[in-house]
Amino acid sequence: MNSIRKDIIYLASKNLREYMAGKLVVIATPIGNLGDVSKRMIEVLRSVSFIACEDTRVTGSLIKMLDIKNELLSLNAHTEEKKIDYIIERIKSGESCGLVSDAGTPGISDPGIRLVNAVRKQSIEVVGIPGPNAAILALSISGLPTDAFVFEGFLPQKKGRQKKLKQLSEEERTIVIYESVYRIEKLIKELNEYMPERYIVICRELTKKFEETYEGFPVELLENISSIKMKGEFVVVISPLKWKRL
Ligand code: SAM
Repeated sequence: MNSIRKDIIYLASKNLREYMAGKLVVIATPIGNLGDVSKRMIEVLRSVSFIACEDTRVTGSLIKMLDIKNELLSLNAHTEEKKIDYIIERIKSGESCGLVSDAGTPGISDPGIRLVNAVRKQSIEVVGIPGPNAAILALSISGLPTDAFVFEGFLPQKKGRQKKLKQLSEEERTIVIYESVYRIEKLIKELNEYMPERYIVICRELTKKFEETYEGFPVELLENISSIKMKGEFVVVISPLKWKRL
């Protein structure tokens, strides 16, 4: 049965400030296409008491485009520790804090989890506004099995990388990896070495103007490496061990 309720939309738009008071609200934002903002995302960004964000310039430009004015507080790997107590104090006094990252879902290969964890430890309620996430989008368009998958985020850049690849070569579920443009060619070569029998789907610049996907076995991707545009952002989806296309 469909559990979507009309009265929830009513609650969200009419009593939003009241609903969010004393809570941390984790808000997903677009991963490249402003068209992916939702009505609720806009309403919440406008209505929270303040927004904790990874980079005030990035979020400042997003909320400006959405014609929203709100207080921004930077919260990244360097500042997180110091700001957490301050944020908790404000939430406890009845304010609501929105949490966003530069793009996509906060906490997913992005800062934010320490704040969520610290807030929960204080028995403060955490709610979320769902939205874009590059890993889930890539998985959902890959055509590879989605019933069980493992998200690895970014592989270690140097130390531990080979060990991780070796470990993943035994993985029986679909694997989703984030990779930087600087290492995507290296990763394809490594996949050819560690898991040549796996089918690979590479998604580039998802939701953006020059969105593209490339697919094949690692050796095929290497043969056509010149056709892969080495620019932008990439998600790599790897088939499970022994998977065969129907
Ligand atoms: N929190 C984000 C999310 O929910 O997807 C991920 C942030 S992580 C720092 C950035 C990485 O996510 C990029 O290096 C890339 O691997 C992936 N990514 C983000 N946006 C993307 C896009 N539009 N197309 C392809 N990959 C993307």
